[in-house]
Amino acid sequence: MTEPVIRVVGLGKSYETAAGLFPALRGVNLEIRPGEYIAIMGPSGSGKSTFMNLLGCLDTPTIGDYFLTGSNVAHMDKDALAILRNRTLGFVFQGFNLLPRMSLQDNVALPLVYAGADKETRRAAAREMLDKVGLGKYAESLPSRISGGQQQRVAIARALVNRPRLILADEPTGNLDSHTSEEIMRLFGELNAEGITVVLVTHEQDVAAHAKRQVKFLDGEIVSDHLTAEVA
Ligand code: ADP
Ligand code: MG
Repeated sequence: MTEPVIRVVGLGKSYETAAGLFPALRGVNLEIRPGEYIAIMGPSGSGKSTFMNLLGCLDTPTIGDYFLTGSNVAHMDKDALAILRNRTLGFVFQGFNLLPRMSLQDNVALPLVYAGADKETRRAAAREMLDKVGLGKYAESLPSRISGGQQQRVAIARALVNRPRLILADEPTGNLDSHTSEEIMRLFGELNAEGITVVLVTHEQDVAAHAKRQVKFLDGEIVSDHLTAEVA
């Protein structure tokens, strides 16, 4: 069997609040294999974003282990973790998070700046990814000049520019109308068909139906885990 892209064991996260420690994630176990396409579902407050932020190495767990392409993230120092994250995964946020004063091309190239690539390499890679999401002709424009759906496509191009094996997306269609959502979901489907592992959070069953597997959270725990074909 191939090694999982992601394996979490007894993963927990508690937040310090005025009322004491709040357990947002409670002992989650999950394996994600190369090429999977998973929708993370569950009501607001069930721990989905907390979980995604841990998977994306944007936050650290309180307890448990997280193996990302076989490396135990819990035992890595900050620099090693940044390198692993940069090489392995791309993260897409609900709010797009593009820098408003930078051209689309420069936004997409940003992860390559952190990776230390030279200017020409960055330009070429950013152009290629903008072409891939159908926005090459707007490369020199500012984010404010394009629609929300187009901004999310730019954010996906940015997540792809390091050629990651894994795309993590937290409610990527949460701010989009249903027609634009469908376009974004088609793009994720194409990326998955190319072999990229996709994990995305969604509230909506029709969005989740695009994924091959659906994992449901409730109160910080996984309460169901099914192939889409099995979901009633
Ligand atoms: P979801 O994405 O499923 O809506 P979250 O992971 O954002 O859920 O939140 C899970 C729970 O943890 C919620 O009760 C939320 O209020 C709480 N929470 C999230 N982030 C923090 C934080 N930084 N400090 C305190 N509590 C938090
Ligand atoms: Mg959330």
